Amino acid sequence: MLGLIQDRPLLISSLLDFAATYHGEVEIVSRSIEGPIHRYTYRDAQRRSKQLAQALQRLGVKPGDRIATLAWNGYRHFECYYGVSGIGAVLHTINPRLFAEQIVYIANHAEDSYIFTDLTFVPLLEQMAPELKSAKGYVILTDRKHMPGTSLPNVICYEELIAPESGEMEWPRLDERTASSLCYTSGTTGNPKGVLYAHRSTVLHSFATCMQDVLGISSRDTILPVVPMFHANAWGIVYGAPMCGAKLVFPGRELDGQNVYELMDQEKVTMSAGVPTVWLMLLNYMKEHDLKLPYMNRTVIGGSAAPASMIATFEKQYGVTVIHAWGMTEMSPLGTTGVMKAKMADWPFEKQLEYKAKQGRAVFGVDLKISDDGGNELPRDGKAFGHLMVRGFWIASGYFKGEGGQVLDEGGWFDTGDVATLDPEGFMQITDRAKDVIKSGGEWISSIDLENLAVGHPDVAEAAVIGVAHPKWDERPLLVIVPKQGRSPTKEEILGYLDGKIAKWWMPDDVVFAKEIPHTATGKIQKVALRQQFKDYVLPTAQSAAE
Ligand code: AMP
Repeated sequence: MLGLIQDRPLLISSLLDFAATYHGEVEIVSRSIEGPIHRYTYRDAQRRSKQLAQALQRLGVKPGDRIATLAWNGYRHFECYYGVSGIGAVLHTINPRLFAEQIVYIANHAEDSYIFTDLTFVPLLEQMAPELKSAKGYVILTDRKHMPGTSLPNVICYEELIAPESGEMEWPRLDERTASSLCYTSGTTGNPKGVLYAHRSTVLHSFATCMQDVLGISSRDTILPVVPMFHANAWGIVYGAPMCGAKLVFPGRELDGQNVYELMDQEKVTMSAGVPTVWLMLLNYMKEHDLKLPYMNRTVIGGSAAPASMIATFEKQYGVTVIHAWGMTEMSPLGTTGVMKAKMADWPFEKQLEYKAKQGRAVFGVDLKISDDGGNELPRDGKAFGHLMVRGFWIASGYFKGEGGQVLDEGGWFDTGDVATLDPEGFMQITDRAKDVIKSGGEWISSIDLENLAVGHPDVAEAAVIGVAHPKWDERPLLVIVPKQGRSPTKEEILGYLDGKIAKWWMPDDVVFAKEIPHTATGKIQKVALRQQFKDYVLPTAQSAAE
């Protein structure tokens, strides 16, 4: 027997309609690329998104067509999110930090028909345009006054594109499984692969972002997503905020400590989200200028492991609760969040920190398990570590155009490529990417654990650990340190700091100091580049073992 409940499709357009109807006065504030702060409301955003939808139809855009964006977080990009997906076309958010060849590859692979770009990326696109085979035109996200002189063919000014349209339209009632957006993973090996989200999965994921145990987004929030809209839909915030009428603050392209701080302060931001490197810049800026964050009550840290020292600084010095989150592009992206359980509330901070530094508990809608190399499930005892497998409502079932082949096992599980533990409280902890784990004498050493500990040293700004070839142990850890400005810690001081905090055999065999550590386009430490840089490095212990 089937239930007698209305079967209405879960559509992205309904999120914006809801915000415009019930939270029509709530603001979206953007630091524009042209310079000034731009403010308008959800009601304005809905009208302009509909104008864009009508304009796209006028250009001949059909359901399923891919429309690309190369853009920072801002109101016009937000309109693309709704205007494009709302009519059944697919919004392809391109990460502009990728190498030019990768951008050309993914735009051609996606067969993008129109490319919407911020002023910032016009010179980049001019170089690529001859190779972008499917592009029928380039829409510059600005007004006539700021239109640049450009060699791009078929250039359209965004404001002129939408101006003739009325914004009077009803969104089409699409099948909820219709593709809504496309985001390529910045794979470290091979070509990037496209993750194709659907309306249904996106709306379900948005519900999750509003749960108290997840991001807890509500109408009382003012949210500043530092995480870019080209990185897994700004972790779902651009959909979750309209779902409950939260005020949005878009930071544009300036993501340094000063700019992020000023916006947080001026707009009374209550919640933010970003990768650890962004928070490092903000924390440094606040320390230098002796500033506080009176309005912020929580921030989401993910994309890379949030070091315990960073979590402690936010919570103890600034009164900002950290939600440590883990996920991936293939997971829309949320998988786990580290919100404390009731019984943990009274624990001493040091004990809470042990859990806060883990990547968190599964969000309803996501199943997790860990398995060994043979696919056998490992115990959830907080000790065994193995391949982290996921399945759920918003997890990819394959990549666009079948790249990468079959990605699910017979149980429907997707291998995340991460290695993790699961503890009896349900908290998951990433110990490594499967390919970054250091294999020493047949045992695994977690590079992330060592990095997190090393950045706790007061003179260390950033740390990375890689495995370096060793004649006896196969691989041994090498610790690369970027000292804080004006500090010059020694190898002995760093190793002395780690002593007693880790098993003896995890102790790095050497420490090298560097000015900077290379990062990927999504802010992760670029281990492949580091391994390449140190491929001929001879560890002091390797010399003695070889003698
Ligand atoms: P992306 O698809 O670019 O978002 O990258 C996803 C990958 O980032 C995951 O598979 C993890 O390896 C890594 N990652 C994301 N969040 C965290 C976190 N909180 N701690 C450690 N690694 C993370």
